[in-house]
Amino acid sequence: MSPLETKISPLKMPVSSLWGVGAERAVQLARLDIRTVGDLLLHRPRRYEDRRHFRKIAELTKDEPATARGTIVASGLRHFRGGSKSVFEIILDDGSARLHCRWWNLPFMEKYFAMGDEVFVYGKLSETKPRVMTHPETEVIEGGEESFIHINRIAPVYPLTEGLPQRWLRGLIWRTLEKFEQHIVEPNIRASQIAGKVGQASSLPFFPTRANAVHMTHFPEELADVEIARRRLALDEFVELQRQIQQRRKTFESRAQALPCGGDNHLIKPFLARLGFKLTGAQTQVLREIRADLGGAHPIRRLLQGDVGSGKTAVAACTALMALESGFNVALMAPTEILAEQHFQNFSKWFEPLGVKVEMQTGSRKTSSIEHRTLNVEQGGGIHHASLFIGTHALLTSGFELPNLGLVIIDEQHKFGVAQREQLVRKGRYPHLLVMTATPIPRTLGLTLYGDLDVSVIDELPGGRGRIKTFIRAADKLPKVWEFIREKLAAGRQAYVVYPRVEESGEKGLKAVTKEFENLKTLLAPYLVGLLHGRLKGREKEEVMAAFRANAVKVLLATSLIEVGVDVPNATVMLVENAEAFGLAQLHQLRGRIGRGAHESYCILISDAKTAGASERLKVLAETTDGFRIAEADLKLRGPGELLGREQSGLPKFRFGNLADDLDLIRQARELVVKAG
Ligand code: ADP
Ligand code: MG
Repeated sequence: MSPLETKISPLKMPVSSLWGVGAERAVQLARLDIRTVGDLLLHRPRRYEDRRHFRKIAELTKDEPATARGTIVASGLRHFRGGSKSVFEIILDDGSARLHCRWWNLPFMEKYFAMGDEVFVYGKLSETKPRVMTHPETEVIEGGEESFIHINRIAPVYPLTEGLPQRWLRGLIWRTLEKFEQHIVEPNIRASQIAGKVGQASSLPFFPTRANAVHMTHFPEELADVEIARRRLALDEFVELQRQIQQRRKTFESRAQALPCGGDNHLIKPFLARLGFKLTGAQTQVLREIRADLGGAHPIRRLLQGDVGSGKTAVAACTALMALESGFNVALMAPTEILAEQHFQNFSKWFEPLGVKVEMQTGSRKTSSIEHRTLNVEQGGGIHHASLFIGTHALLTSGFELPNLGLVIIDEQHKFGVAQREQLVRKGRYPHLLVMTATPIPRTLGLTLYGDLDVSVIDELPGGRGRIKTFIRAADKLPKVWEFIREKLAAGRQAYVVYPRVEESGEKGLKAVTKEFENLKTLLAPYLVGLLHGRLKGREKEEVMAAFRANAVKVLLATSLIEVGVDVPNATVMLVENAEAFGLAQLHQLRGRIGRGAHESYCILISDAKTAGASERLKVLAETTDGFRIAEADLKLRGPGELLGREQSGLPKFRFGNLADDLDLIRQARELVVKAG
């Protein structure tokens, strides 16, 4: 190689430069996201087959998939139902017994096999007399000089795409490894450091280099090597990600100068005096962190986590007041109009007496300063021009200007994407940013998704709250449940009834919820029932919510729209129908609507879910109200994409890293990168 060529890593070359990869193969590989030699080397097997030891056909079972090996002694294709259906069968014999392998309606399978072929077969029996496997995975054993790649070893089995043979791909990866393994280099952070870290983290007996780990991923000597290799490669992925995160943060800090928003207490003092409750220790502690931060050299980038009902709004209010005291405008963004409206009411009530103007900006409602009360109230000899702007993503529209913006607060941050967060921040000259979330984020995700944010946690609920009891009931118990709810209504309490998926299922869902509404009205008369769903106009939503808040409407039939933020302490019953249709984090949020007052509260989850997974999930909720435990269970059960919801963008993809399990590695990666500076 010439010196010039050596500068570009050969791993960056396109796969089509490899021997044996033509245009058609390159297209197939691209479908697997394999474009470069490096991609090919990181193509992760989906399982491994230990081809040093086989199960005898006579010992195959219905319970456990296993690999056997036999010779084709018979084969045939049969058509039936006038030729519209077919079954193709081969019979394998290994001396111990015979095995029938069948493929339904895949007549072309015939061309892959010939009498006398030796075949690996992987699967479990669907019948035992005779022994049958339906649609097993097979691979014809071929002789020749490359046969050692495929037999008498632990063989990788890769994810494939149409037209790409397993055996061909395995051969390609073998040859590519032979040629390019030497070019796989350690990441900039020294291997010895990583080795030490992997060691501490896992107490593994040895620490492969990156090149070793890649090799072991494809052709492990022992099955235990696979996990060792995975952890090594996962660590590299996490290191790379943390490096990007730290880089982003450094760039940001080098460019951005903090606006002085520390405040002088002249608004906070009267605010707290009139609030009606004393802040909890956790709220006070978090505010201390935020105040110190606001006086720092860089604009704050802070995530405030606090379980549902922990009192994040009061913390947001105090933070807003610090910036307002300093003469800067503040923007507060909420994901739904209902929540924006609720904040608008609360903050108006809190801030107007202090002489701070509160403005509203949602899709359906904009308070202009003329129409709005004029609130340039004299206070302490000065006039406060700084205002609080509350809104939904309507705050992001390009025509909406926010001059003199000192602080951006985003409530229920997980409902917004990273891009939206940035869009709002860009309305000002590096304003401070406080994002709040009640979805307790599992620590793995916190460190990856929000790795560039400082984190404050409110880990204490205000006292004097009634307990929440959670029940899971089948739909045939509903009559009893309604009876129970009537009792609570008679005692003066209010209830939510949540009905799933109206937003998603369109007209049909709307009909269903409207019908349910009619039923409920009859069922619960004389108690008033209100209906709330995403298809209502902003004004209509407001009216229903106002009536519910005022305790005129006793029962609110709603979609998951009320999942976030809504705060009506007198409501003590949450009934969720088809509970299995919701994620755990979402149900936890819904449950967070109750238990906000002094009365005992009841969360009733109606589910006829038959699958083990669904009832297992719901059980987690009945067992704990600890949001962190619930979020972690949800992450394990559903994966990060589902947990965070479709709205969440910016979640990195890992080939080897596993966000549900690799907390130790993520921590190590962060530590390594921070230390390396
Ligand atoms: P979340 O953290 O879920 O946003 P909220 O801010 O809506 O919670 O607060 C939930 C309820 O608790 C509200 O009714 C609020 O007024 C009340 N609250 C907040 N802080 C305290 C406190 N320190 N003592 C008593 N009640 C509080
Ligand atoms: Mg809230």
